[in-house]
Amino acid sequence: MKTLIKNAWIVTMDDDWNDYPEGFLLIEDTVIQDLGTMAKYDDTYPDAFEEGIKVVDAAGGLLIPGMINTHCHMGMIPFRGLGDDMKDRLFRLLLPLERSLTKELCCASSKMAIAEMLQSGITTVFDMYFYENDVAEVADEMGIRAFLGQTVQSSTSCENLDEINYGMKLLPEFIEKWRNHELVKPAIGPHATYSVDLPVLQEIAQIAKDNDILYGIHMSEMDQEMAEFKEKYQSTPVQYLADQGVLNDHMVAVHCIHTNEKDIKVLDQYGVSVAHCVVANTKSAKGVAPIQKMLDVGVTVGLGTDGPSSGNVLDMFNQMRTMAYAQKTANKNRSAFPAKDIFYLATRGGAKALHIENKVGQLSVGYQADVTLLETNSFNMFPVYDPYSTIVYQGKSENVQDVWVNGAHLVDNGQLTRVHQEEMKREISAVMDEFVATAKEMLEEV
Ligand SMILES: [Zn+2]
Repeated sequence: MKTLIKNAWIVTMDDDWNDYPEGFLLIEDTVIQDLGTMAKYDDTYPDAFEEGIKVVDAAGGLLIPGMINTHCHMGMIPFRGLGDDMKDRLFRLLLPLERSLTKELCCASSKMAIAEMLQSGITTVFDMYFYENDVAEVADEMGIRAFLGQTVQSSTSCENLDEINYGMKLLPEFIEKWRNHELVKPAIGPHATYSVDLPVLQEIAQIAKDNDILYGIHMSEMDQEMAEFKEKYQSTPVQYLADQGVLNDHMVAVHCIHTNEKDIKVLDQYGVSVAHCVVANTKSAKGVAPIQKMLDVGVTVGLGTDGPSSGNVLDMFNQMRTMAYAQKTANKNRSAFPAKDIFYLATRGGAKALHIENKVGQLSVGYQADVTLLETNSFNMFPVYDPYSTIVYQGKSENVQDVWVNGAHLVDNGQLTRVHQEEMKREISAVMDEFVATAKEMLEEV
């Protein structure tokens, strides 16, 4: 099966930062077979070449690598908009409410989250939440590239209201079942530095290394977390967990807002990647992570939306734009983090953080065909001087026209090809009643 996309402005994100204002890209099955200028196309391919090929005329559109979301909680759509401006919301509302989450609701939520991400041009996600073995079926059905981190926490959870560290019991079967899937990969999600016992964290680090899978953890995110590590261990979470053997190159550390220069060197030394979730971090007034210092040292950084209750919308445009605003302000420098560099983090940075930089993150021959087409007919996309600026400062998920993942056409002219939008809404509404009632009760109490 071949798909030819013609007349697009192709932003390759390859090593030479090539872009082709009038270009083409040819997909064969799951892979990018060729790309370049339209002049090259006319020279290379004979007149009858397009017969039997699916041709997309993308005149004026921007063709970009599918964006990579390095941190999400797809099961949290029912929490979206709940207590948004509430102080200490995580402990007062979210964590207690999470205990009532059912498998059915988590799966329906994940389906909707994947749909939202695909429609906003995201083609890969690293999720961390509950019931991931079931969510994996949903991801498989939807066709997104997904790393699914089964939550482990040293308290009881919705998956088992009596047993702590229950996620550990689910890991062997989960890893075995999905390890060889082409797009859906098992991962581990130890919740945070302060919510999982040390021996469990050590075991997780070892399991990840032995099985060559990723583990994600919320790290150096909150003031009270930093105070707790200082008081108990006279250390920072990064340094303490490094000393205890919890850090290795399969770890994606989420947030890392309160990391000092020594911490950053430690992250680099252990090959830990960082998921920067600037919308969640600034909305909750936790601070702006020192990303420039991380990049200067050589730490790999990707961008993440965080869950729909943290950043509200699951799109990278919002992340990229907020990152520019927050980092420029924090660094008091208008030229800090130009659009090109931010788009790099949303594509190649994320790919490297998830160890798939040889497969996706750029449009190059031989890479998997994870491709997003943005239209530029809408007012907010006009005119285009610099495609990176247009993407970062002007782009919205509404501008996403087509999306391919591994060569499969999952969004066609703005519409999902595998699922019906209204049906999905009905599905989640049908299993949300009890959750909504509990949420309302809790809101009245807090
Ligand atoms: Zn998170």
